[in-house]
Amino acid sequence: MTHDATSVKRDVGKIKRLGIMGGTFDPIHYGHLVTAEVARVKFGLDVVVFVPSGVPPHKHGVEISPGRDRYMMTVLATATNPYFEVSRVELDRPGPSYTVDTVREFRTRYGPGTELYFITGADAAVEIFTWKDAHELLKMCAFIVATRPGYCTTRLEAELGRARAVSTHGVFVLEVPALAISSTDIRARVKHGDPIRYLLPESVENYIRKAGLYL
Ligand code: ATP
Ligand code: MG
Repeated sequence: MTHDATSVKRDVGKIKRLGIMGGTFDPIHYGHLVTAEVARVKFGLDVVVFVPSGVPPHKHGVEISPGRDRYMMTVLATATNPYFEVSRVELDRPGPSYTVDTVREFRTRYGPGTELYFITGADAAVEIFTWKDAHELLKMCAFIVATRPGYCTTRLEAELGRARAVSTHGVFVLEVPALAISSTDIRARVKHGDPIRYLLPESVENYIRKAGLYL
């Protein structure tokens, strides 16, 4: 694993609870940031590491911005929060990005003394059994599943029942303030010349404009 694959600045031994926020982050927006922050406080996480995906296995067919742009936007968006970090682990790993491989790397790096919490939105979580080595993954870390507009909580609870039956670390539902923001919508708004201000940090909007993304 490369040096910055996980925490760069911190003493590995001091981290008892580590959040991992996976995503394409094309671009990162306030839905991601609010979810990570609410999870951090609610679960007493020492740090939340944002992990931009390399080649996301679930998104073939959709055109994705280069990893360096998604990494830069994620760094810009998280820079003001001292508890947030960004990892290049998936960007630097060749081939499709599988969560199980990423969690395994964090586990190796941090050892058994650190509880790992994978943070995901409801839309992604209901697909968990389609993820590579889902059963193994559910035995490797806890899951924090954030509510997301468009995903009915009752149905979510039903779907998560199966995951809980397999999980050894817990599958928790986290209520976050409903933000009907998605990267897909932001990309479409840029393309059509509609405003994206207040949907994502200003620094990320500036980066999008400067790099000419989503046109
Ligand atoms: P896209 O529209 O390209 O799929 P997205 O907005 O869903 O983008 P992703 O990078 O796919 O963003 O999401 C990363 C993680 O963040 C996923 O687990 C997703 O469910 C979660 N997430 C994204 N937006 C929100 C939101 N508004 N509220 C709660 N969770 C969210
Ligand atoms: Mg998504």
